[in-house]
Amino acid sequence: MSFTSLGLSAPILKAVAQKGYDTPSPIQAQAIPAVLEGKDVMAAAQTGTGKTAGFTLPLLELLSRGNRAQAKQVRALVLTPTRELAAQVAESVETYGKNLPLRSAVVFGGVGIGPQISKLGKGVDILVATPGRLLDLFNQRALNFNQLEVLILDEADRMLDMGFIHDIKKILKVLPAKRQNLMFSATFSDDIRKLAKGLVNNPVEISVTPRNATAKTVEQYIYQVDQKQKTAALIHLIKQNDWKQVLVFSRTKHGANRIAKNLEANELTAAAIHGNKSQGARTKALANFKSGEVRVLVATDIAARGIDIDQLPNVVNFDLPNVPEDYVHRIGRTGRAGADGQAVSLVSGDESKLLRDIERLIKQKIPRKEVEGFVPTQVVAETDLNERKHGQNRGPRNANSRGNGRSDSRNNASRGNASRGSSRSESSQGGRVEHKDGQRSGEAARGHKPNDSNASHSRRRSRSSNSASSAASKPSSNSSIWGK
Ligand code: AMP
Repeated sequence: MSFTSLGLSAPILKAVAQKGYDTPSPIQAQAIPAVLEGKDVMAAAQTGTGKTAGFTLPLLELLSRGNRAQAKQVRALVLTPTRELAAQVAESVETYGKNLPLRSAVVFGGVGIGPQISKLGKGVDILVATPGRLLDLFNQRALNFNQLEVLILDEADRMLDMGFIHDIKKILKVLPAKRQNLMFSATFSDDIRKLAKGLVNNPVEISVTPRNATAKTVEQYIYQVDQKQKTAALIHLIKQNDWKQVLVFSRTKHGANRIAKNLEANELTAAAIHGNKSQGARTKALANFKSGEVRVLVATDIAARGIDIDQLPNVVNFDLPNVPEDYVHRIGRTGRAGADGQAVSLVSGDESKLLRDIERLIKQKIPRKEVEGFVPTQVVAETDLNERKHGQNRGPRNANSRGNGRSDSRNNASRGNASRGSSRSESSQGGRVEHKDGQRSGEAARGHKPNDSNASHSRRRSRSSNSASSAASKPSSNSSIWGK
């Protein structure tokens, strides 16, 4: 199949060709015609599947056919959980829409609101936004939604995990009832289904396998290394393998800073990104990493979300994540769009339990290696993939689903570490502080406190979520995946 058969017009096809895409990804092949027909869509798809173009291309097509946005009006609203994802979606809108006379804008917290207000004043055809800043702008009457035609919720599961449900409900209340709705989510928990029920009408349901999360494209290894040897082992691995572009995950912000500093001290260009860095610093670090000026980017889970770099070859888990699903998200940063990638984890003896949760989640043991010259003194316990403790696994909701394996592992991780909370938060010391990454500064500025109880509620519920990859094993016509 080619893009030309999907019903997109010449200016969009030209931009797609210039980007170098020749074949639509499965989600694009399914979503583009459905969106063009004006249908609501619910898609189980992770980053890496081509979902952004899957909604952006038909959106641009539809909007190019109608009347331009009037002053302060928005014709299509894309909501994302984080600033990084918002910026990346906006970049895609610009790229694919460059041959069209449409206006777009991106708004998120942590940066000045003034320029955003003036940009919205002229009206925008597509607005990409994080929820908190959007509400700020709406409350300041910087925009209104009388002309809104399409709403897109991107990474809806992340939005709920990060406690945005109240903001989303407030936004839905001020949108016109008659509109097209598109919802993308990597997982489909009970909460997501509930949200979807009040959002989409008779949707086309799509579910695809993330190309980047399959064993075929991402090679995974564990290096057994003692905790105190990890930095030296990381430096050794990067130098010995001559890795040119490496994304390193750290569980904590301090850890990320420390790792970057140590790499720099060993002649490896490195930068850290995490929630304590200003938006400007994060954007700069990412740009330098993309251009190759910085060889190693050290990131916390939240800061790394939405990072989209074509064919990122190497991902290193300096620490294993507390929540096993984050392992899948982390390694999803490599081997994108069908390219090969390598994901290695430095695992110390005290991380055996975290490793066990991950291996049970992905239902496979990750091959183990040792770094030359770094013989571990602590043993990393072997995982028994079948062993189940009392109350640990409530059993699959559906025999084909991997999702419950995931949820229960997550349950364990959270239970065993209640004080740490979920990976949807970052902390400086390894303790956990809840926040909404998308607009922390904006929220703080107006005295809004993240809703902890809501966030933990979301976490509790999301433990029973199924995953997109589990859905992928079912036919896409399986309407039960969204519980409709
Ligand atoms: P996404 O899932 O939207 O984050 O996209 C993942 C990556 O796939 C991005 O780097 C896109 O540029 C790339 N991509 C999207 N669609 C295609 C396509 N049809 N062919 C090749 N690469 C694509």
